[in-house]
Formats: sequence, C-alpha cells, structure tokens
Amino acid sequence: RKSVVRITTGSQALDELLGGGIETLAITEAFGEFRTGKTQIAHTLCVATQLPLSMHGGNGKVAYIDTEGTFRPDRIVPIAERYGMDPNAVLDNIVYARAYTHEHQFNLLLGLAAKMTEEPFRLLIVDSITALFRVDFTGRGELAERQQKLAQMLSRLIKIAEEFNVAVYMTNQVIADPGGGTFVADPKKPAGGHVLAHASTIRLMLRKGKGDQRICKIYDSPNLPESEAVFQITAGGVAD
Ligand code: ATP
Ligand code: MG
Repeated sequence: RKSVVRITTGSQALDELLGGGIETLAITEAFGEFRTGKTQIAHTLCVATQLPLSMHGGNGKVAYIDTEGTFRPDRIVPIAERYGMDPNAVLDNIVYARAYTHEHQFNLLLGLAAKMTEEPFRLLIVDSITALFRVDFTGRGELAERQQKLAQMLSRLIKIAEEFNVAVYMTNQVIADPGGGTFVADPKKPAGGHVLAHASTIRLMLRKGKGDQRICKIYDSPNLPESEAVFQITAGGVAD
C-alpha cells in the first residue's frame, strides 16, 4: 500500500485548511477568476515538492503541463531561494510541457506517465485542465463529446496519481452559472460540470482579498467543513 504524502503549499494557513498540504493519491482542483493565484500556487508547489519530507516536501520531481503558456522559470528562482535550494537544480527537476490541443494534452500525459516509471515524481500539474476543451469544443452540440473526452483525461490523471503516488494539482476557470439568478450571491461556478466535480478529490475556490491577499475556501466537500484560509502571494511564492 502506498502512503499519502502531504506537500506544503507555502502557507501554513492553507496547509491547515487542506489537512497538512496537497495530497498524493488525490486530485486537488483550484478554481477562481483571473489573478486569484492558481498559477502562483502551481509555481510554489514546483519547489515545495522537491523539499525533503522533513520540510513538508515530497522529495520528488515535478511534471508540469501548461495549456496557457504561463509557466515562468524566472518565478521559480526566488521561490527556490526562499527555501535555500539551488534554483538550477530545482528547474532541472521540473519536466515541463506545453499543450496546444486537448489531444496533445492527453498524449503528453501518457508520455509523462512513462517517465514516472523511471524516476520518482511526486507532483503533476495541469494548468489548466479545462481551457483546451473549451477551445476545441465550442458548439452546444459538441458538449457531450467534450465531457466524454474530459472524463477520459481525468480518469488517466486518477490512474497516474494512484500508480505513482503523485499529487495532481489542476487549475480550472469559473464560468457564469446559467442557473444563477438575481438572488444567487455568486453566480459563478467551476467549468467542467459534473465530470470534473466527480473527479476532483478536493476543490478549492480562490478569490481575491485585500492587495496581495487571497482567500481559499473548500468547495462542496462531503467530508470537510466549508472553512476558509487567507494567504499571500509574495516574491517567494505562496506564504502566510
Ligand atoms: P488566470 O486565471 O489568469 O490564469 P491565476 O489564478 O492563475 O489567473 P496567478 O497568475 O496565479 O493567477 O496570479 C497572478 C497574481 O500573482 C498577480 O495578480 C500578482 O498579484 C501575483 N504575483 C505574481 N508574481 C508575483 C510576484 N513576483 N510577487 C508578488 N506577487 C506576484
Ligand atoms: Mg493562471
């Protein structure tokens, strides 16, 4: 049996909300509007995953699938320095791939899974899981096919998480809720529908606070309270 590893997010408050950090053998989804910190969390996890277990890391490599072209190697440098790590060594342990279509994204996953049989990975990032699906399937008539392809991708992610004891961190956008009327406080919901809701082990809803502050709330969890954590985005990545 594989045992769960919890990887620090860089923020103690956020870690506590998550029960110790983001977990291997599970899929953590973060959704929220632009600039809420989804990609910054991904960058911080790229470094934290490489920390030893004694420092709440995962002692492993990182695979990063980027569908939006927003990964910044330069951002990794100050985050690595914050933890006293050599930035170049940290960058060498991030296997990065840019995906341009949903098929490409799926094929990259297969390639990364093959790499995981050879080297110890502890984190797989997909930023974002839904963006290419929303580009590749636009018409109303394509919705069923889109959800079917999305389900295939997600079941592959779950398989990877379980086979290699990897944490999957995926980001997602919010869309206007067609059912959201005047009396709904927040008429936005995560994209991907039931298929995504079902696949995510834990869903994090991010929003902006004052200045660099961000607020993270557990969304729709059957076994976790709907509590919140406040964190900051700093030069050294996610922090309290
Ligand atoms: P999108 O939906 O557009 O992808 P996102 O949720 O991924 O948005 P991020 O890119 O993670 O958003 O967050 C962007 C925010 O991170 C910026 O608004 C900025 O405040 C903050 N940020 C980025 N780099 C730094 C830095 N070096 N120091 C402090 N804050 C930073
Ligand atoms: Mg982003």
